[in-house]
Amino acid sequence: IFITFEGADGAGKTTQLDMLTTSFQMIGQEVIRTREPGGTVIGEAIRHLLLDPSMGSMGAETEIFLYEAARAQLVREVIKPALLKGQVVLCDRFTDSTMAYQGFGRGLERAMIDPLNDLATGGMKPHRTFLLDLDPQVGLQRLQAKRGADRLEQENLLFHQRVREGFLTIAQKDNNRIKVISADGSAVAVHQAIVESLRELSPT
Ligand code: ATP
Ligand code: C5P
Ligand code: MG
Repeated sequence: IFITFEGADGAGKTTQLDMLTTSFQMIGQEVIRTREPGGTVIGEAIRHLLLDPSMGSMGAETEIFLYEAARAQLVREVIKPALLKGQVVLCDRFTDSTMAYQGFGRGLERAMIDPLNDLATGGMKPHRTFLLDLDPQVGLQRLQAKRGADRLEQENLLFHQRVREGFLTIAQKDNNRIKVISADGSAVAVHQAIVESLRELSPT
């Protein structure tokens, strides 16, 4: 089973991946945990390119190809082989982030993004996606509290509001796969909502 975590910066994706990984391990279920951009040697190098501010400003078109390149490598090297072995794969961000950030956020033509995502994934889709929904101001405050006001000022609040609305629009269109979880509660409350939703998926 392939589960992805999506949502704005600071919504709690990585925290929830940690908690769900632990929950699976406690019942003896092996978990492959990965992230985007990254998760492979090539993907982590691409992540470095994408996130290093000393690279200067990057065009939206350049950016989307780098995200898709990292994804293509991750799918073939990590995700597909793990799924073939019947393992549980948890991924921190996936295709919906590209639609939300590069599409709704940066304004790239949205009709072009699905075909690019499909090229990168070979058409493979997550079985379940948790969209952690949070007011971007709260998310950015959480990150600021964590690591100081570094990269947060790079993109303005309006951008993050477009990203949030974008995620919600995507979730509405694909509401079988994507479950919207309010990320406003405590980490434990959010974790419980995720576990509940997974029980629906495989009631054992
Ligand atoms: P990014 O998009 O930057 O990777 P993220 O969605 O992975 O962010 P986390 O790194 O999990 O978010 O959380 C951001 C900060 O908020 C961390 O300091 C974390 O401990 C804290 N945090 C996570 N979940 C909650 C919560 N439900 N309530 C309050 N604080 C939280
Ligand atoms: O979630 P993570 O912290 O790994 O994301 C790294 C950064 O990349 C975040 O600041 C996020 O806003 C950005 N990102 C992006 N477009 C994507 C995925 C992530 O701009 N498709
Ligand atoms: Mg994170």
